[in-house]
Amino acid sequence: MKFLPEQEDVVTVLRDTGALRTGHFEFPNGSHSDEYLQVPLALQHYEHAKVLTVGLSRLLRRNTEIRTSLKDLSIVSPATGGLPVAYGLCEALQAKKAYWAERETPGGAYRFRPFIAPQPGEQIMLVDDILHSGRNLADLKTTLESYGAIVLGLAVIVYQPTPKTHDFGSLPLYYLAELDASYYADAGSCQLCAGGDAPTKVWV
Ligand SMILES: [Zn+2]
Repeated sequence: MKFLPEQEDVVTVLRDTGALRTGHFEFPNGSHSDEYLQVPLALQHYEHAKVLTVGLSRLLRRNTEIRTSLKDLSIVSPATGGLPVAYGLCEALQAKKAYWAERETPGGAYRFRPFIAPQPGEQIMLVDDILHSGRNLADLKTTLESYGAIVLGLAVIVYQPTPKTHDFGSLPLYYLAELDASYYADAGSCQLCAGGDAPTKVWV
């Protein structure tokens, strides 16, 4: 693979590992799509995780503010799917530390492991395997900022926006590939359902 993996390289890895599937899927919120992406299926292969996170680290290094903050930088993930990205980036960037947060209950407030707490002024890169709705990243950003931490940017392997994706404004966003699936709010508006095809239900 190249110095910086290109979109087609990333998509090839995702398809070859089964992380990216084409079909007809129904999500827990009732929406339907013609694609289903589970990046952990690719990242479970250490060599893929390494190549992708090293590639992502090279994008981050182009940002002067991030590059000059590396020795103090924390890499923080809002979900377990982002852990291989957080640790891969931390190693590639020689950043200070990596950690994650968890929701107290599904959809509930974020909390950190006992004795882990963001510090006022702590510089943070928020990372995940994917930016989709952006809800987890947005909620964790708010939580981190409530501690006085400073979020410098977002980094994900795949950017898969929908019309409802959270708007992060001018916050820098780094990703290796952008995927555009077709989304339908519900079965009634789904063109795949209209064609008589039954969806596969997925739990996340
Ligand atoms: Zn459908």
